[in-house]
Amino acid sequence: MSESISQKKCPKCSELIQPDAKLCKHCKADLRNWFVKHKIISGILALIVLGMIVTALDGDNSSSSQFSENTSQERDIQPTVQEEVVSTSFDDFSILCDTNATNLQKQDAFTSKFKDKHVQWSGTVSSISQSGGSYRLQIKHCPDTFVSDIVITMKDDQKDNLLPLKEGDKITYKAKLTRLGDILGLSAQNGEVVQ
Ligand SMILES: [Zn+2]
Repeated sequence: MSESISQKKCPKCSELIQPDAKLCKHCKADLRNWFVKHKIISGILALIVLGMIVTALDGDNSSSSQFSENTSQERDIQPTVQEEVVSTSFDDFSILCDTNATNLQKQDAFTSKFKDKHVQWSGTVSSISQSGGSYRLQIKHCPDTFVSDIVITMKDDQKDNLLPLKEGDKITYKAKLTRLGDILGLSAQNGEVVQ
């Protein structure tokens, strides 16, 4: 009787076995602890728990890393402020098309209003080319211009925007005007296609 008290029932076959038996002597059922039987799964579970702990500890630092992202975004915004667009319509510089205006009058208007300023103008594509590793877009604004009124050196990342364009397309661009030549017309840099 005392022997039966110190024994337990096998969960599989209900025969009496030793309480610390690893194997049922009747049905050969594996009676070891679940985690011991499933060493690989237990190992994976331990790694997952460890990973959650590491993630939780890392989460404490996330507020400081978000802060540094915010400050870098603010730094990115500042040049955009300096690139303030002074004109959104070529009509503002319609004197360029005026055949009665002198070159001096055109230069004076350019220097006072547009030199080294950003504009966002719409015109007609007359030529797209690549020269010295940079892309150049020539746009026609005046109805009577033979070739183009402005030569824009585009930003390096504009290739994908330029590829679908062809001569005669209407486009809107943004660029920084640099000079007005008597023969070659306007020059601009940092061009990008707006639409
Ligand atoms: Zn058994």
